[in-house]
Amino acid sequence: MASALPSLMHMLQGLIATPSVSSVSPEYDQSNRPVVELLAEWTEALGFAVEVVDIPGHPDKANLIATLGRGPGGLVLSGHTDTVPFDEGLWSQDPFRLTERDQRLYGLGTADMKAFFALALEAARALDADALAQPLILLATADEESSMLGAKTLVELGRPKARYAVIGEPTGLRPVNAHKGIMMEAVRLLGHSGHSSDPSLGVNALEGMHAVLGEILSWRAELQGRHRDTRFHVPVPTLNLGHIHGGDNPNRICGECELHFDLRPLPGMRSAELRAELRERLDALFGEGPLRWELRPLIEETEPMHTDAGAAIVTAAEALTGHPAEAAAYCTEGPYLNALGMETIVLGPGYIDQAHQPDEYLALANVQPMLDHLGRLIERFCLQSID
Ligand SMILES: [Zn+2]
Repeated sequence: MASALPSLMHMLQGLIATPSVSSVSPEYDQSNRPVVELLAEWTEALGFAVEVVDIPGHPDKANLIATLGRGPGGLVLSGHTDTVPFDEGLWSQDPFRLTERDQRLYGLGTADMKAFFALALEAARALDADALAQPLILLATADEESSMLGAKTLVELGRPKARYAVIGEPTGLRPVNAHKGIMMEAVRLLGHSGHSSDPSLGVNALEGMHAVLGEILSWRAELQGRHRDTRFHVPVPTLNLGHIHGGDNPNRICGECELHFDLRPLPGMRSAELRAELRERLDALFGEGPLRWELRPLIEETEPMHTDAGAAIVTAAEALTGHPAEAAAYCTEGPYLNALGMETIVLGPGYIDQAHQPDEYLALANVQPMLDHLGRLIERFCLQSID
């Protein structure tokens, strides 16, 4: 039934023409089901067993797991179906109309990263399920750009299972095997307001926050002294103080103060341990004192990603592309696929500079090399029995 699969260009056009913005702001957020339906139709045409995985509590969102062949092991080609919102006025053309110009394909999701699905299907076009020693799985997730809810649902389900995974996020055809994690946290201090003329009438949360800021900055210095990874452009874990709000009036003792910061841990650091460390320090700072404090996450964290440099998928991708595996400055669904037991790399045809930008594009020159890489990876990890 391979003949039922549309041409590569038709698939690219169809994916870009199907809006699938995800956003934490409900006014921008859209369903990704139309993209999942397209992919379901095309993978079915190639003989994949197709499963649409609902996301509890979010009827307009879904993941897709499409499997060709059977058995343990195998290779997952993974991508997210959603895009970020866009500034229509800043685009030179309709972001939902694939437009070829200057040897580039322009459109929202060309680099980041719906176009990857079309390339993955094109690379699988001629495959015969009976010839596969290990399965090939196309995985398409929801809400990577907003809540990572698609990937989290998969981790809860423990699916899919495979040995290796390639995420086609824009890496400019270079393999990536590591990135930092991201945490966004709030410290809230609760004191007691009162008239400024008599400090004994209140407990000043703003003065307490002064101590918290000092404590967090010395903690940051310690973390940066303890952890270093020179693969990263910024080789230490970062902690940015991003927002503070407290009090209302100069003549009132500040009763409440809240600080927001982000923390980007290196591979090997774990968010639960970091949170416990900070709690211990805040406990020591305030003890049983009159100021009460609370530490809470503003978003669910993404753990750092790390796939061993010696993993077969890493060395295979290095050999194919001629580039050593790199560390990226952005987050992906890699840690979730790692948590599912897959040795995972990020390798895609777009460039991260074009992601989340007006006039996002995919260079035509990168299409055939990416198809070649995918073909070779499928050959190595699905057609040959490797164990
Ligand atoms: Zn992306």
